Amino acid sequence: MEDTIFAGLRSFGLQGAGGAKVYGNGGGSGDAGKPEGGGGGESGDAQAHIKRNVYMKKFVCPVCGRETQSPAVKSSGVRLIRKDTDFMPCYKEPNPLYYFVAFCRHCGFASPPANMKNLTQRQKALIREKISSSWKFEKEYPAVYTPEIAIEIHKLALYNAVVSEDRESLRAIISLHIGWLYRIAGDDASEKTFLATALEGFSRAYEKERGSVGGMDKASQQYLIGELMRRTGNLFGALKWFKMAMLDRSARLSVKEMARDQKDLIMGIYEASKRGAAPDGADRDGMTD
Ligand SMILES: [Zn+2]
Repeated sequence: MEDTIFAGLRSFGLQGAGGAKVYGNGGGSGDAGKPEGGGGGESGDAQAHIKRNVYMKKFVCPVCGRETQSPAVKSSGVRLIRKDTDFMPCYKEPNPLYYFVAFCRHCGFASPPANMKNLTQRQKALIREKISSSWKFEKEYPAVYTPEIAIEIHKLALYNAVVSEDRESLRAIISLHIGWLYRIAGDDASEKTFLATALEGFSRAYEKERGSVGGMDKASQQYLIGELMRRTGNLFGALKWFKMAMLDRSARLSVKEMARDQKDLIMGIYEASKRGAAPDGADRDGMTD
């Protein structure tokens, strides 16, 4: 499975990327099911609205020191519709999820912007050695990304996090975002692959990392681990984590309610299968809207 995760990065000159593993090399301690519009097919007005609200944001690359730019969505153009049960925010276009990662076309560095300032000298050296030294960028990306372009850049960010031995929680968060992008693209199999990769990382981070992970408290992490288990077909494991979140005294009420809803969803599947009905729950989307 992991042989294919980074296979597409060979087009950037990163020949060694294909066989890289997401976890296991260090690891410092340290949301529309189907959204409106998928990057094409919008009316002229909608296209104009998208273009108006995506702009090129300049930044100085922390790895090569050159000024570069990456597209971003103006905050005034962000329209949240709802959230999926794995916290995926579902937006009207332009979709900020496409631009969660910024990248430097000069050297191949890619990361969520909030993480850039945390890079150590050693991490920058690792990225220079393992990415920049063989990096070539011969493509033209439009300012308004398609899900496919966003997926490519997110995989580059995941590979940056791997070679620079960044926190497993960061690798999990980027993997979760890639899973969401595949959901937008309608590629169920690839979505599940990356939700499973995210699940492994969040489980590792839950055991090893202190404090919040991606802004989530412990109960939210428990809930998300359960929900990723449910979505990747481990209903029994999911029940355990949902119950943990429900019993957590520090859990916010909204998290307890989500955990109870998803637990009930699974119990309903078990009941139906006992009655002889075909269980379809492992694949059900489980939206709560
Ligand atoms: Zn750079």
